[in-house]
Amino acid sequence: MNEVLQKMISESPQKPQAVMPKPQAVLTGEWALFLDIDGTLLEHAEHPDAVSVSDELRSLLQGLDRKLDGALAFITGRSVAAVDHLFQPLKLRAAGLYGLEHRLSPGDDVEIADEPADIAALADEIEAELGRGAYIERKGRVLAIHTRAAPHLLPRATQLVEQALATLPKGYRVVPGNAGVELLPLEAAKGAAIRRFMDIAPFTGRRPVFLGDDTSDENGFETINDTGGISIRVKPPAHTTAQYGLAGVAETLAWLRGQL
Ligand SMILES: [Mg+2]
Repeated sequence: MNEVLQKMISESPQKPQAVMPKPQAVLTGEWALFLDIDGTLLEHAEHPDAVSVSDELRSLLQGLDRKLDGALAFITGRSVAAVDHLFQPLKLRAAGLYGLEHRLSPGDDVEIADEPADIAALADEIEAELGRGAYIERKGRVLAIHTRAAPHLLPRATQLVEQALATLPKGYRVVPGNAGVELLPLEAAKGAAIRRFMDIAPFTGRRPVFLGDDTSDENGFETINDTGGISIRVKPPAHTTAQYGLAGVAETLAWLRGQL
């Protein structure tokens, strides 16, 4: 087996990676940076709370934020409160819960929305059936089922949330991920979250760049492509709408360091 193929398989046990062009080494001109967190800046862990942020990553983000005059925002499925906890004491601009939450100015606090009763009941039901192998993350109107620690539970988890769509009020969708499945309100979409930032200073008029690694990031890539931006998928699978690919978290961080 050749080295490249061996590396691809070792980096992505589930799906083979596509060979895609890398983004240009150094971006020039006025641009704005949108960043997914898990799988893009941080390696995935079995539990979302099991990741930690290094001082080096904090200072890299701070440096980029300064260079871009604040035109940098996280676009993540985590809540803004969870992002703050992870990156503390750093508080950058962020869209949390796929854009259900926005912090448009650094330092503002964002309250997490309450969990609706029907989503709470569904979470209880799924937790009871899947047991401890899966981690059910309750994020207000967003329900995430993480199966990284027990991949065999993913098909059943997906089936349970898909079945639930029939009984929930209209306006939810199911988004499969690299290692789990999420139930989201329709308006929770990374593309819309990016557009909201692009309408305001210091983002407006700049060329948007978005880096993400998962199915839920594809919607963000579409928006970026429509607005003349640069879309970059980390560990790209065979089908992606992103224009460029980076092999993994380490290559992504190296590319970001190159932009300072
Ligand atoms: Mg991700």
